[in-house]
Amino acid sequence: MKELKFNQPPCTGKEMEHIRKAIENGKICGDGEYTRKCNEWIREGCGTAGAYLTTSCTQALEMAALLAEIEPGDEVILPSYTFVSTANAFVLRGAKLVFVDIRPDTNNIDEKLIEDAITERTKAIVPVHYAGVGCEMDTIMEIARRHSLIVVEDAAQGVMASYKGRALGSIGDYGCFSFHETKNYSMGEGGAILIRDPEQCDAAEIIREKGTDRSRFLRGQVDKYSWVSLGSSYLPSDINAAYLWPQLEMAEEINNSRLACWDAYYEQLLPLQKEGVLELPVIPPECSHNAHMFYVKTSGIEERGALISHLKKHGIGAVFHYVPLHSSKAGVKYGRFHGEDRYTTKESERLLRLPMYYGLTLDDTSYVTEKIMEFYR
Ligand SMILES: *Cc1c(COP(=O)(O)O)cnc(C)c1O
Repeated sequence: MKELKFNQPPCTGKEMEHIRKAIENGKICGDGEYTRKCNEWIREGCGTAGAYLTTSCTQALEMAALLAEIEPGDEVILPSYTFVSTANAFVLRGAKLVFVDIRPDTNNIDEKLIEDAITERTKAIVPVHYAGVGCEMDTIMEIARRHSLIVVEDAAQGVMASYKGRALGSIGDYGCFSFHETKNYSMGEGGAILIRDPEQCDAAEIIREKGTDRSRFLRGQVDKYSWVSLGSSYLPSDINAAYLWPQLEMAEEINNSRLACWDAYYEQLLPLQKEGVLELPVIPPECSHNAHMFYVKTSGIEERGALISHLKKHGIGAVFHYVPLHSSKAGVKYGRFHGEDRYTTKESERLLRLPMYYGLTLDDTSYVTEKIMEFYR
């Protein structure tokens, strides 16, 4: 029997060579040669003023909350259908979470419901680009402009994806990438923060370097460095960056390989959607996605459970995703759901993710779709 894991960390085969080089460089702390290469790749590819590797997307989000100067009592608008880190970063600064319902087509925050959730305490909007499919960013940015709100994009899943030709993570004031091993490009644990405006780059460098102007000192711009603001240690070891670098060098190839699997899943499962048995992902025409995830939507939680068991019996790892934050213990404590939960809970209970990783083959996707067909027959 075939064994298909749900995920496998990306690996190009060139990692050891680069890790060795990082060690030989004699600089394995943060901001060595590989970190600089990765930063530059992101900055150029995304067209932002700044991009800095972090130890995780969680920490990139925490940096964004510091940069946004979130204070106790501020409100932050976000979807409930997301990972805990999207919320934690702002709660750590004392913010109150205001959850808004998602759109049933993309599982992204419903931009039409945001404005109604704004109060005089609202400070930021945090769209999450689920599955690497962009939120309706023009609408969100226009709302933010009118109400002078900061936009932090949780683009953890959005590396190499875009909205109207603009890279996810580069549209809001701050964008956050993840390079966790479950993401499209990985350094084990890692992430990056993207800074749109040049005036914010200094502040970002300071927060990332424990609240000191050490980065300026290393560039010879000041003759000693000192403590200038709140901060923490958000920079990864150059060894981790050396693992990531060869993947970024062949990012296009990795992306195309994932997209080929995504397209194969879609094509092979289309008949089931036409029969009204399953629903497949929707990609709005403004969005170019990165095949971060392929999911199907079943009729409900019971059918999903049965399908997971059926696939497991055939060696296939298929998993559900987020339990909505507003229904969790901490979510109740730190947030409230604004308006009606029409889709957040319902869609979260139907969604099932199929194996998707760099190295998955078209034979593998055919095997998975055959087993899904078998289940419904
Ligand atoms: C993976 C993920 C995170 C957290 O990323 P880490 O790098 O593991 O901290 C945050 N938000 C979303 C939407 C994610 O998918």
